Amino acid sequence: MAVRLCIAIMVCLLGRTPAGAQDSLRCGFGRGSFNVPYDQWYRHAVEHIRTPAKRGAAEPDTTYIIPVVLHYIQQAFIIDYQLMHDRIAQLNADFRRRNADTINLRSIFRSRVGDARIEFVLADSTPDGLPSQGYTRTRNYLTFGIDKGTPYSQAHKMKFDSTGGIKPWDTRKYLNIWICDLTTPMGFKYTAGFATPPFNSPNWSAQYYGDSLIDGVVIDRSSWLSSGNRTLTHEVGHYLGLRHVSGDPSGLSLEPCLFDDSIFDTPRINGQNLWHCDKSTNTCIEAVDDMPDMLENYMDYTADCRNSFTKGQVALMRYCLKTLRKDIFDLKIDQPKEPYREKEVRVMMYPNVMQDKLYVEFTDSFSQGNHLVVYDMLGRKIVEKTLVEPLTVTDVGALSGGIYIAAVKNRAGDVLTEQRLLK
Ligand SMILES: [Zn+2]
Repeated sequence: MAVRLCIAIMVCLLGRTPAGAQDSLRCGFGRGSFNVPYDQWYRHAVEHIRTPAKRGAAEPDTTYIIPVVLHYIQQAFIIDYQLMHDRIAQLNADFRRRNADTINLRSIFRSRVGDARIEFVLADSTPDGLPSQGYTRTRNYLTFGIDKGTPYSQAHKMKFDSTGGIKPWDTRKYLNIWICDLTTPMGFKYTAGFATPPFNSPNWSAQYYGDSLIDGVVIDRSSWLSSGNRTLTHEVGHYLGLRHVSGDPSGLSLEPCLFDDSIFDTPRINGQNLWHCDKSTNTCIEAVDDMPDMLENYMDYTADCRNSFTKGQVALMRYCLKTLRKDIFDLKIDQPKEPYREKEVRVMMYPNVMQDKLYVEFTDSFSQGNHLVVYDMLGRKIVEKTLVEPLTVTDVGALSGGIYIAAVKNRAGDVLTEQRLLK
C-alpha cells in the first residue's frame, strides 16, 4: 500500500494527464484544481436557464447547431465516410436524447434527464470559405500519447503542423476533433480521449483551458472505431464545460464523498466508476433523497451503460455555449408543435333549393357511420339515410313543396352540419 501511495504522489508531482482524460489513471483534478467560484457560477447558470424573464422568449425552443471538423491523422489513405457520419449521428442522438439505449436508464432517474437540444454538423465550408466535407487528412505514422509524468503541455502535438499534426480551424467557429493514435512513446495507451473546456470557464482550473491553438477534442483512433463507444460524447461534454460527476477527487483525500460536480441532479459519487455497470453501486449516502450512483451518466467512466445527461448538465452546457462559446453556434428555432385537434369535417349540401336530388359531399375526410336526416318544419323526420360514400345523392322528388331542415350527423349523433332547404 505504501509503495502504491508513493507512486501516486510521484505521478501528481511530475505531471498531469490531459484535461478530461478518459479511461486514464487521473491525477490532474485534485483539490487544488477545483475552483471555489464554481458553485456560485453554476447557481447563476441554472437560475438563468430557469427564469423565463432572463432567458428570453427564444430560449425554450432553440437548438444550438455546432459545425464540426474532423482531423484524421493516420497512415491509411482511406477515410471511412460512413463511419464518420455514423459517429456524428451517434453524437447527435446522445445530445438530443434520441439514442436507442435510453430505455436502459433506471426509472428512478427518468425525471432528471433531458434533451440538450445541441446538434453537430460536419462543416460544409473551410475557414477560407471553400467547400468542405467536414474533415482533413494528415498522413503519417506518428503516435501522440504522452507517458505519465510528461508535462501536460506536451499533450497537444497532434494540433501543430510542426509536430506532425495539423493546426485547428478557427476555434471560435468550429469544434475541432482530432482522431489519432494516442499510444505513448512507452507503448501504452492511457487515454481514450481528452478535451479542452471553454476558455475562462470558472469550474475548471486555468491550466486546462483551450486557447486558439489547441481548443477542441482529441479521440484515440481505437475508440473512434469502436461501435457504441461514448468517448466522443463524454469529451464533448467536457468541451461544453461539464466536469466528471465525481468532481475529480485526487484519490489521496481521507474524506470520502468530499468532492462533487456541484450539479444538483447528479447523485454524489465518491470517485469515477471505472468500466463497470453494477447498479447496486451507491458510493455516497446523501442526507436527503439518497440515490445510487448514476452509472448511466455520460460524465462517469462506466463502460456500456452510459446513456444520459441530466437536466442540470444540460443547463450548464447551454449556458457555457451562450456565454463562453457564443461565436460557435447557429440557432435553430424549433417549430412549435401544433396542438392536437380533431380534424374538421367539411360537409356540403346542395342545392338548397331542391328539385329532385339532394347532394351531400364530404370535401376533405369521410368516415363510416355518418347519416343524413331531413326534418320538416314540425320537426318530423322525413328522410333518414346512412352515408356510405363521400358523395351521396338522395332522391327527394317525392317531398312536397315547403321548407325543410337537413342535418348530417356522425355516428355519435353529433350534428356536423345543418342547413335550411327549400323545395
Ligand atoms: Zn472525462
